[in-house]
Amino acid sequence: MVALVTGGSRGIGRACSIKLAEMGYYILINYQSNETEALNTLAMLREKGSDGEIIKFDVSSVEEVEKAISQWQAAHPDTYIEVLVNNAGIRKDNLLMWMTDEDWNTVLNISLNGFMYTTRAVLKAMLVKKYGRIINMVSLSGLKGLPGQTNYSAAKGAVIAATKALAQETAKKNVTVNAVAPGFIRTDMTQDLDESQLKMLIPMGRFGNAEEVAETVGFLASKGASYITGQTISVNGGLYT
Ligand code: NAP
Repeated sequence: MVALVTGGSRGIGRACSIKLAEMGYYILINYQSNETEALNTLAMLREKGSDGEIIKFDVSSVEEVEKAISQWQAAHPDTYIEVLVNNAGIRKDNLLMWMTDEDWNTVLNISLNGFMYTTRAVLKAMLVKKYGRIINMVSLSGLKGLPGQTNYSAAKGAVIAATKALAQETAKKNVTVNAVAPGFIRTDMTQDLDESQLKMLIPMGRFGNAEEVAETVGFLASKGASYITGQTISVNGGLYT
């Protein structure tokens, strides 16, 4: 059983890689540039008796995605990627009136196009085998909209809509497509945020940790989630819209 986690080198993607490894998956740990951290994720899951490998590609480059996944598939003709976690993502916050084309496009290219390129590259095998689990990491920002994040909210909101559409395309083949929407989670991405102030907005009074998000991903990837598709599950300490 093989699972691919994009952005598995750090943060939520690392926690998802470890969780899926504990569930018995061989993990393809994708990263863009941070090979050291990708290898650390691999070492962490090996420590727990699981296994995997690192796989470098930029999810926003259709050429890199297709090359990496087709090469992996060609080298492993007897198996296929049955779980995909589309987790890679970045923030480039600014008020829209100051936002550059580059900051708009980079965020959309990684979160939205990255979802499309990676999913398309693994989907055919899932449909042929009549089993698959696709889990998209979105955000509270894509449900509620957050000021300073029109690019990020647009990208995540688009992935939520795409989750619903794709779920209907693939349901009859037992390929479920769901999204997980974290609130504020303590990772490199949120290092610059003032937790002492922001936690006052959160009913649970704290930021979440990556493992709490990974638990939901693990459930959606499990056989037990067989009748759930097209959904977005929030993991946000009660911070509703
Ligand atoms: P993070 O700690 O900053 O890690 C980002 C990960 O994405 C890294 O593994 C990074 O790889 C990878 N990545 C970035 N651009 C990539 C690209 N073009 N191609 C391939 N991989 C790429 O972020 P995080 O907080 O764990 O966030 C993970 C996901 O959760 C994101 O989609 C984010 O939007 C979402 N999310 C996070 C929060 C939060 O509060 N943290 C809340 C809501 C949603 P390298 O290590 O190689 O750079």
